[in-house]
Amino acid sequence: MSIIVQKYGGTSVADVERIKNVAGRLCRTHEQGHRVLAVVSAMGDSTDRLLKMAHEISAEPPERELDMLFSTGERISVALLAMAIHELGHEAISLSGAQAGIHTTTTHTKARITDIDTRRLSEALDGGKIVLVAGFQGISPDEDITTLGRGGSDTTAVALAGALGAESCEIYTDVEGVYSADPNLVKEARKLNAVSYEEMLEMAATGAEVLMLRSVEYAQKYGIPLRVRSSFSDDPGTLVKEEDEQMEKAVVSAITHTEDESKLTLLRVPDKPGIAATVFGALSEAEVNVDMIIQNVSEQGTTDISFTVIQDELPAAQQALDRICDELGTAYIIGEQMGKVSIVGAGMKSYPGVAAKMFRTLADNDINIEMISTSSIKVSCVIERAQVEQAVKALHAAFGLGDD
Ligand code: ASP
Ligand code: MG
Repeated sequence: MSIIVQKYGGTSVADVERIKNVAGRLCRTHEQGHRVLAVVSAMGDSTDRLLKMAHEISAEPPERELDMLFSTGERISVALLAMAIHELGHEAISLSGAQAGIHTTTTHTKARITDIDTRRLSEALDGGKIVLVAGFQGISPDEDITTLGRGGSDTTAVALAGALGAESCEIYTDVEGVYSADPNLVKEARKLNAVSYEEMLEMAATGAEVLMLRSVEYAQKYGIPLRVRSSFSDDPGTLVKEEDEQMEKAVVSAITHTEDESKLTLLRVPDKPGIAATVFGALSEAEVNVDMIIQNVSEQGTTDISFTVIQDELPAAQQALDRICDELGTAYIIGEQMGKVSIVGAGMKSYPGVAAKMFRTLADNDINIEMISTSSIKVSCVIERAQVEQAVKALHAAFGLGDD
């Protein structure tokens, strides 16, 4: 009998009525003769609320305790869901990440799954139970509770689907699938029927929030097709899978964006070997994730280096730079209110002029490009945050993404 893994996001279980709706869906899948495992997120925005409470107590809560706190959110969801399934006359069992055999590294709040012991899951599935696993958590070698980072329930679902050899992995959310742009921003945005892992990776990395980046990496690595769909409708959603001949290789499939970038520019640093290593070494020691980096041409032995970080990490980046600026004899300036727009498409590889069209579109809209980075299937531009919305709309129209 085939195993189906379904993941339900926070909005799908935001209140008791919605939990009953999910219970109904799981029971129907079970009645169709499948073995069913569901991974569930915390109800609504409860992870945000837990984090807020922690910060009302401490500016820097111990990360071990944050994980202990966070993990409760998804445990509430699975327990209530199990009760709802029992009410419908089916058998279900809820399990924490640790009980589900999910072993992780010790890095609290961003642990990685190292191994899954599927014994208990298989036993329960074989016994005809609907198995409910609390998302985004596991247990470390020290037997402490860990979590996998925000949005991590997607990764739990994909990892379990891989470990159990599931026939399919469905990610249920509050939108109909993966869109050509954020539908909250662009009303013409279209649902995409299929996207390749490669495209989805770029989209997740450049701001599409529908899937956690790591879950897509996992799905690609283990060849697990993902279906992203809504828990409120029967639309088949978007299939994320290996690129194949039948897939329409759109030159541009989607426009993505972020609105939480900050840009730092180091002025007139000495142009000699080892400077970039010193700067980015200091940032990496401070665990700051650097996104885009640009070094200008050298003039009179000095050069400017700009890079972007997410705004939350700006204070840590500043601290790191403050430590090394004296030593390097430089200063830095900050552009706090930045954003990024990207175009992503597998067909871009074999199509010239795509970047030029993007730049022309931004220029026609009086939008200044501050930084550019590219991959074989993506072009990203850092721009003023206030212009992101306009840029996304203009690019979506320019590349004809709203048209049928
Ligand atoms: N509840 C966690 C979060 O809000 C994990 C998840 O929903 O995937 O990030
Ligand atoms: Mg999510």
